[in-house]
Amino acid sequence: MQKSKIIKAGKIAGEIKIWIKPKIKKGTPLLEIAELIENKILELGGSPAFPVNLSINEYAAHYTPSYNDETLAHGLLKVDFGVEIDGWIADNSFSLDLENSRLNQDLIKASEDALKNAEKALSSTTTFGEIGSIIEKTIRNYGFNPVANLSGHSMEQYDLHAGITVPNVNNKSENTFEEGLYAIEPFATNGSGVVHDGKKGNIFILKKDKNTRLPLGREILEFIKDSYGYLPFASRWIVKIFGTKGILGLNQLENEGILHQYPILTEEKGKLVSQSENTFLVEVEKVTNTSK
Ligand code: MN
Ligand code: MN
Repeated sequence: MQKSKIIKAGKIAGEIKIWIKPKIKKGTPLLEIAELIENKILELGGSPAFPVNLSINEYAAHYTPSYNDETLAHGLLKVDFGVEIDGWIADNSFSLDLENSRLNQDLIKASEDALKNAEKALSSTTTFGEIGSIIEKTIRNYGFNPVANLSGHSMEQYDLHAGITVPNVNNKSENTFEEGLYAIEPFATNGSGVVHDGKKGNIFILKKDKNTRLPLGREILEFIKDSYGYLPFASRWIVKIFGTKGILGLNQLENEGILHQYPILTEEKGKLVSQSENTFLVEVEKVTNTSK
């Protein structure tokens, strides 16, 4: 692992979090927020590890604006973005109440507190069950439910979800964290605590690299492999290079099983969801919250 790159990616993420918050108001176009963050990541010497997710209310995750999106920020907004340097990722998120709503604010406090309490307990010998239990208890103390089928994850170079799951409920796992890089991300909801696949979103990822027949698809596929590899990307990034015909190319590649299009993860009862996330470098001697 390249610790200096992990630390630098986290530092950029933390800096942007402070910088962007006052710029987000009720009515700010989501497209503007996404582009501000993604451009700032590049300006500070990183790359977006995935498209900025701007998920509102019952959308828990995986909403990024389309190229011509007109959605305005409102409600309970989750801002989830990732910075990568040479493939080493800082994944982090925060939630904002744009309605002066006590309920939104309590949901946000619940997920923030859950993350803080998890951080306090985290070491290389902590079990995943313990962390899940702490997150679950903290959120339930607020009278809300943790989202059980969303979880944190280990990360490796150029691999955002590297196989290990960090639960948001007590899953009884006695496996310990060991040394590594992890995102911990509690989600709190006043709904049932389950999200399902909703409408198709604007985020894609390369699934299986194979031959495609049409020239446009082939050209786009080459670009995706060069630019993003197996990290997620936004359809609007493709439109920037190929124009709106790029959307046709993406759909074609998806139909051929080459790309996966992420659905928007939506709370099953249509209730509100908050999220709080940081990236942690776990070593035997210490734990570093890289994206604080
Ligand atoms: Mn995230
Ligand atoms: Mn994550």
